[in-house]
Amino acid sequence: MNRSRLWLTWVELVFLVLIPGILGWGKEGHYATCKIAEGYLTEEALAAVKRLLPDSAEGDLASVCSWPDEIRFHYRWSSALHYVDTPDFRCNYEFHRDCHDSYGHKGRCVTAAIYNYTSQLSKGYQDSILESKYNLTEALMFLSHFIGDVHQPLHVGFVGDLGGNSIIVRWYRRKTNLHHVWDTMIIESALKTFYNKDLTNMIQALQQNLSNAWINDVPSWENCANNHTVCPNPYASESISLACKFAYRNATPGSTLGDEYFLSRLPVVEKRLAQAGVRLAATLNRIFTSQAKIAQA
Ligand SMILES: [Zn+2]
Repeated sequence: MNRSRLWLTWVELVFLVLIPGILGWGKEGHYATCKIAEGYLTEEALAAVKRLLPDSAEGDLASVCSWPDEIRFHYRWSSALHYVDTPDFRCNYEFHRDCHDSYGHKGRCVTAAIYNYTSQLSKGYQDSILESKYNLTEALMFLSHFIGDVHQPLHVGFVGDLGGNSIIVRWYRRKTNLHHVWDTMIIESALKTFYNKDLTNMIQALQQNLSNAWINDVPSWENCANNHTVCPNPYASESISLACKFAYRNATPGSTLGDEYFLSRLPVVEKRLAQAGVRLAATLNRIFTSQAKIAQA
C-alpha cells in the first residue's frame, strides 16, 4: 500500500486512519533506532545534528525520526523513497535493477534517497552557499528515517505483494497484513510481553546487547567499504535476504501468526533496529567530521 497513486488521495487517507502503521517501521521502531544512534554520535556530529534539528525537536533527534511518515502524503514525491521493491522470489537486490518507483523512474527508492540526503548534508555542511540551497533540516530527518526503513526487511520486499502489504494474515487474533506485522506488531507485542509496555526498557535492552553480545559486531556494522560516507546497498541486500528467510517464511496469505512466529522473528527485528541505529550514527559521524580531522587521522 506504500505506493503513490495520484488518484487515491482520500482513499489513502481512509487507509491511513484504518490501518495505522502502513508507513514504515512504526513510530516506536524509528524512535528506538534514532535513540540508539544518539549514543554513538561524536561530540562534533552531535553538535551539528543539534544545530540542524527543528526547534520542535528540543535537541532530540529521536523525536523527529518519524517526521517523513507524517508528511509523506503532503510531500507526495517522497512516498516512493521509503522502500525498494525486488523481483518476486529472487531474494536479492541490485541497485540498477531495482531502484525505481512504480512508474519506472530511476533513482526513486530508499537507497538512492539515502545517497541523496547524505550528499546534501556533506556538501551543505562544508559550503554555506550550498547550505542555503538545500534544506539541511529536512535532509537530516529524511536520512535518519530512511536508514531505519532500509533495515526493515519488508521495505526491501517483493514487488508482487508490495513488500508484504497485500499478504493478509492474522497477528494472533487481529487481522492485518504482513508488512504491518514487521513495521509495528512484533515491536508492540514485544513491548507488552517483555518490556512492561515501556519503549525505554526495550531501547535499554538493545543498548545492553550492543555493549555485550553484539560488541564484536559493531565495528563491522559501522564500516562502509572503500571509505564511502554511506553504504545503503549492503543494508538492502541484508533486508531482502532476511525477508525471504524470516518474514515471508510460514506467512502465506490467510495464515495466523502467533507465538512461534513472534518469538523466532523478534530477535531479527531487535538486531535490525540496533544495526540501523549504529549505522545511522556512523554515517552522521562521517558526514560531520571536519576534513581537517580526517587529514590528521
Ligand atoms: Zn518510512
